[in-house]
Amino acid sequence: MNLILFGPPGAGKGTQADFISKKYGFAKLSTGDMLRAAVKSGSPLGKQAQDVMAKGQLVSDEIMINLIRERIREDDCQKGFILDGFPRTVAQAEALDQMLITEKKRLDYVIELQVDDTELTQRITGRFSCAKCGTGYHDSFKRPMKEEVCDSCGSTEFSRREDDNVSTVTKRLEAYHQQTAPLLPYYDKENILVSIDGMADIVEVTRQIEEIIGGTGKLAAQ
Ligand code: AMP
Repeated sequence: MNLILFGPPGAGKGTQADFISKKYGFAKLSTGDMLRAAVKSGSPLGKQAQDVMAKGQLVSDEIMINLIRERIREDDCQKGFILDGFPRTVAQAEALDQMLITEKKRLDYVIELQVDDTELTQRITGRFSCAKCGTGYHDSFKRPMKEEVCDSCGSTEFSRREDDNVSTVTKRLEAYHQQTAPLLPYYDKENILVSIDGMADIVEVTRQIEEIIGGTGKLAAQ
């Protein structure tokens, strides 16, 4: 099964993609994670993407499309994949459709997590993660049980994403509303769009996604 987890930055796509990927064995393809790894490694791609990401803008369609085209051919995607953060423009969505035809694959669902902008800004600007194992935390909603010690691995090093500050978040939300949200009618027309309340509890959001994957969710009922 191939899915897109769709929604604005901070909607919980990455967190939910992790759960679903572990439970069902689908590969998680997060373009944000791929780009951050490229920036960290100092590769040519990372050098190109770094400034654009820091400004909260979108990396070029050409780069992103090539990145995903290579990735979905890999072995771990054959059972299924979850796209997190791709496509983000109409050009990316059209290119994805073409790739899927070439690879003889199809998209089963586009699951939209709906969260309002005020909540998103609050979520994003407070989030941080363990620098060693990646476990996610939040200044207000989820602090480590023991201050400054990771609950999962005991590390005392934490990091924040460079683009998780108020001014960049505003730009990222603008990019979402202007360039990415117009994809919703595109997938609605293909009859594979399911929208769920991303403001609900994390566990409840996971439950609803599992219902959709299991074929008993909203789309199946329509
Ligand atoms: P994310 O982790 O999904 O919030 O992505 C972080 C940043 O990476 C975005 O603000 C963009 O600059 C860039 N990015 C990630 N995915 C894409 C994409 N599909 N198209 C263009 N830029 C992207």
